[in-house]
Amino acid sequence: MENIKKSFEVIVVGAGTGGTTAARFAAEKGLNVCLIDRKSRTKIGEKICGDAVGNDIFDFLSINHPKDEELSCYIKGAKLYSPNKKKCITLLDPKQAGYIVNRLEFGQRLLNEALDAGVIQFLDKTMALGLLYKNGTVNGLQVRFENGEKVELNTKILIDASGFYSPLRKKIRSSLIEKDILKEDNILCYREIVKFSPNDQQVDDPEYISIILDQEKAPGGYIWYFPKNEFSLNIGIGAFMDYKGKVKDLYQKNVFQEFIKTSRFEILSSGGGVVPVRRPLWSCADNGIIFVGDAACQVNPLHGGGIDPSMRAGFHAANSAANAIQNDDFSINRLWDYNYNVMTSFGAEFASLDLLRIVLQSLSNDDLNFGLERDLLSGEEILKISSTGGLNLSFVNMAVKAFKGISRPNLLLDLNYLRIRMKEISKLYKSFPEKIEFFSVWKEKVIEIYDKIKRMIVKAKTHK
Ligand SMILES: Cc1cc2nc3c(=O)[nH]c(=O)nc-3n(C[C@H](O)[C@H](O)[C@H](O)COP(=O)(O)OP(=O)(O)OC[C@H]3O[C@@H](n4cnc5c(N)ncnc54)[C@H](O)[C@@H]3O)c2cc1C
Repeated sequence: MENIKKSFEVIVVGAGTGGTTAARFAAEKGLNVCLIDRKSRTKIGEKICGDAVGNDIFDFLSINHPKDEELSCYIKGAKLYSPNKKKCITLLDPKQAGYIVNRLEFGQRLLNEALDAGVIQFLDKTMALGLLYKNGTVNGLQVRFENGEKVELNTKILIDASGFYSPLRKKIRSSLIEKDILKEDNILCYREIVKFSPNDQQVDDPEYISIILDQEKAPGGYIWYFPKNEFSLNIGIGAFMDYKGKVKDLYQKNVFQEFIKTSRFEILSSGGGVVPVRRPLWSCADNGIIFVGDAACQVNPLHGGGIDPSMRAGFHAANSAANAIQNDDFSINRLWDYNYNVMTSFGAEFASLDLLRIVLQSLSNDDLNFGLERDLLSGEEILKISSTGGLNLSFVNMAVKAFKGISRPNLLLDLNYLRIRMKEISKLYKSFPEKIEFFSVWKEKVIEIYDKIKRMIVKAKTHK
């Protein structure tokens, strides 16, 4: 390819929700930005997804909320079902309200807004292959164009938003960043967008997204039933990675056959994907490089929502890149402010929810039915936890729970132990070290909390 520029202040790899947001805000700050994606321009935004996004992110970034062809429907809140479906918790608060989007149109809008903001070069059908280094600092990458030609591009800061399979993270030379994500910290998903013939079957509760917890039908994950409109649905399942090669069968048997009651339907889209459901990477940056979105494990561990945090992270990454460029310092010491901003905001919430996720995955359907039916974890508490990552219970509230949970004292004690650890980890993340020198001490404290929760689970299993 001739006539392309090869040197930039910022190169963003991946034009998903995280990458387009990072590119947009970096360009708005006047930086010289190149955005690349392996897909063709018309396919940017196309992604196997549940398509649900809360309204908060649009206010946070002061950007337009989804509308027109980008908007499939408005969502008032979420309904959470126990495995036997006897208990349904309705989660209604401004944070749970939002949209089901048309993912392609939404992605195209984010791309166009990034280009309008002044991204000076967008290379589509361009594959990022590996990193270039100078004196231990990332200073560019090798890419391959559609015609097979390989080229080296240079940059002051590289923002990697290439998603879960990030080839760059796997090749990074870093003692701070995990190259591989543990199997148990990922969830395998399969979903379809199903359209019914009008008058044949209607979507239930078209103003709510529904989530069904069921360890037998969706081991380690959940079943989702998200309306697109009155007659179409985004419906899917998430399960442990052990179900690789079998998740579509689980979907057919436990989701499709159970929820699709008509033989007159059209499948508009189908496919699978993997979601990382753990706290963010230990460090989401190193010398000359910042990781954003799925590439940095910045996904809500409880429900797997990653659109909002990838966009938040893209915004923080653009700010940190601008700051580093202004100071002509691309080292991790300068980029540490990105880690600080991520960990003290949604990172704190996600670390706390990660503990809850690990415990929920260890519970049986019996435990879940019991816990939800007796309000050992109520709707308000779930809302409070998912918006703040922590929970304070009054003495009276605790006494009521103790009474309701009397026939399963161990479950109740474990839930209380979990609450304390969730609060502890949230506090720890909120006091994330401002300087890298104090990071290893902080990390040890986080590991200690995870170890406590893991020991609690082992103990609970041996007592069963
Ligand atoms: C089945 C499923 C359902 C989900 N449901 C929801 C939901 O309802 N709500 C929600 O908020 N989140 C949901 N998520 C998670 C959400 O989709 C992701 O967290 C979010 O899209 C992450 O955005 P990202 O920008 O980090 O990565 P991505 O959206 O994955 O974007 C990565 C981009 O990088 C490009 N790329 C990859 N490799 C290269 C390369 N080597 N060179 C160049 N370009 C490259 C890709 O083409 C892509 O455009 C779901 C995920 C799955 C799998």
